[in-house]
Amino acid sequence: MNTQAILVINCGSSSVKFSLIKPTSGETLLSGLAECLLSSEAIITLNIDNGTKQQHKLAAPFNHQTALAVLVEQLEQHHLVDDISAIGHRVVHGGEKYSQPTLVTIEVEQAIKQLAKLAPLHNPANLIGIKACQLAFKNLPQVVVFDTAFHQSMPDKSFMYGLPYSLYKKHAIRRYGFHGTSHYFVATQAAKQLNKPLEQCNFISAHLGNGCSVTAIKAGKSVDTSMGMTPGEGVMMGTRCGDIDSGIIFHLVENLGYSIADVDKLVNKESGLLGVSGLSNDCRTLENAMQNDNHAQATLALTVFCYRIAKTIASYSASLTQLDGLIFTGGIGENSSWVRTEIVNQLSLLNFYLDEEKNQLTRFGVSGNIAKNNARACWVIATNEEWVIAEQSAQLLSKVVQ
Ligand code: AMP
Repeated sequence: MNTQAILVINCGSSSVKFSLIKPTSGETLLSGLAECLLSSEAIITLNIDNGTKQQHKLAAPFNHQTALAVLVEQLEQHHLVDDISAIGHRVVHGGEKYSQPTLVTIEVEQAIKQLAKLAPLHNPANLIGIKACQLAFKNLPQVVVFDTAFHQSMPDKSFMYGLPYSLYKKHAIRRYGFHGTSHYFVATQAAKQLNKPLEQCNFISAHLGNGCSVTAIKAGKSVDTSMGMTPGEGVMMGTRCGDIDSGIIFHLVENLGYSIADVDKLVNKESGLLGVSGLSNDCRTLENAMQNDNHAQATLALTVFCYRIAKTIASYSASLTQLDGLIFTGGIGENSSWVRTEIVNQLSLLNFYLDEEKNQLTRFGVSGNIAKNNARACWVIATNEEWVIAEQSAQLLSKVVQ
């Protein structure tokens, strides 16, 4: 099977992110984003390997198909079409059924559709991407890589809620976890740093971006993670509140006039860093406000954010018997030295101590161990989910198409 390059597609309801990647080296030949789809503002931005950046306004009907048509045209113009051996799709929810990359079939499409009950914002959009690619790239195999897959190794004590068992058995209400591809990628990179096979490594990884999750990795496998049935559970995030007392929801509905739709908006779009600060969900804006304007609510938001993450990391002492180190990734984890210091300063019981000089230098794409000598390792590793999707798609294809 020729696996020169895989076109990785991450489709949202009004966007398509794409990268053409060589699975063996991770080299990106072309990448870009189509956004504001389904509106007349629809636009596609392409970054070509040679450094050229192009923008094209999309024509009516401004949909995913229109965006992919422009992408195909550009791939043809840059003589890249023949290099593509398959399309690899990021799909958010694979439920209990999918713990491995999977070739798209009618049954798989139906399963993704059914799982939309658990991921109503994401799975339908992912399916639109698959359908659009089937039309645009008729002869190419399509592979799906699920964001939940890496966490399917969690034991039942981690994935069960304290709810009646019948809800799990009849309605699949359990914890699934997300950001699996990212946690897996950074774990493989940290294992390389240690010069050990991943199966012999134990890590806690913190993916901190606009969405945030923390994962306990034992012998290379996820054994617990902070997100749950949906990405709303766990630590505080950019606009999501993370864990709250479920009683608050009843109070909001029964006594404060909220509808269920209002509560949904509140906990997913108006809470987290944005809600507590009253200023922004963007960590950079909050750090500026804290440092330059002494903004009390920005300081509070960042402090609560870091404490909740530190508490979650510490809680994984119950999941692991050995720990090689902590990994920071995601936009905040890779770039905010302040957040990393604030978190790690609360973890001295686990022998985590940062070297402040290394911490300051390890930003903006620089990776490395920022721990003090003799302290437990603490890596900053830039995530690359697209590369994992390309690699796993190529591996699957090499097995099925011999
Ligand atoms: P992501 O969702 O992974 O793209 O991450 C987005 C988050 O990363 C936003 O909250 C950004 O403010 C944050 N971020 C990006 N660069 C920096 C930086 N230099 N310092 C602090 N936070 C950053």
